[in-house]
Amino acid sequence: MRKPFIAANWKMHKNVQESVDFVKAIKDKLPDPQKVEVGIAPQSIALHSMKQAAGKSGLKIIAQNCAAEYSGPYTGEISLRGLRDSGIDYAMLGHIERRRLFNENNKAVNKKVLAAVQMGVTPIICTDEEMVQKEINGEIHYVFSQLMSVLHGISMDQIKNVVISYEPTWAVGAGQHANPTMAEEGCRQIRRTIADVYTYEIADKIRILYGGSVNPANIKKIMGKPDVDGVLIGRASLDVDSFLQMVQHF
Ligand code: PEP
Repeated sequence: MRKPFIAANWKMHKNVQESVDFVKAIKDKLPDPQKVEVGIAPQSIALHSMKQAAGKSGLKIIAQNCAAEYSGPYTGEISLRGLRDSGIDYAMLGHIERRRLFNENNKAVNKKVLAAVQMGVTPIICTDEEMVQKEINGEIHYVFSQLMSVLHGISMDQIKNVVISYEPTWAVGAGQHANPTMAEEGCRQIRRTIADVYTYEIADKIRILYGGSVNPANIKKIMGKPDVDGVLIGRASLDVDSFLQMVQHF
């Protein structure tokens, strides 16, 4: 049984005080963390304060990025050591805005994924759609080439500690209607890719989220799809009422 995961991506919105106030406003109204995982990815300056404000509420605080290094001479980067010390469990990696605006490529994302897994920070790997035909064990399969590249070197054991987010470019920040059928199709194909590369047993356990124009009106339909284990929400997660409407569905 895969535990549903509702994650908010706040991008570069909200300062530290606004982020902490938000946590205080929602933390006693969250669903049972045994049944649903809820997380927020603020900008890095708010990570520590939000983690402290979240206390024992079960709310997960997520980094929006991290360096591929534990610590060291990497000016301007966010260290895995810093994240670990602050009790941050997750790092979102390879978001489409990082790729588009900061030229992050598959190789860079792959290095971060490997480092995060080794340091015990669970990556939420964002992938947009890039399906290609590939020969695997003598058979032709459709797979997500981008996903395969960023998972390069991730072992059977390590893949179990990875979350994947399917964020088609047509839906992220686009103001378009999210399409539950297409969300399911993308997540299903990703699960197939994992099954092809790893095993069906592993694919069955991995959580795959959908991201792109999710809001209070469509979240239930999207999360009702069998291969969609959760959502990554941008704009609609910034307002307390809208956020609570979405998480309290579950
Ligand atoms: C995102 O940027 O990860 C995202 C899903 O944004 P939105 O919900 O605003 O489309």
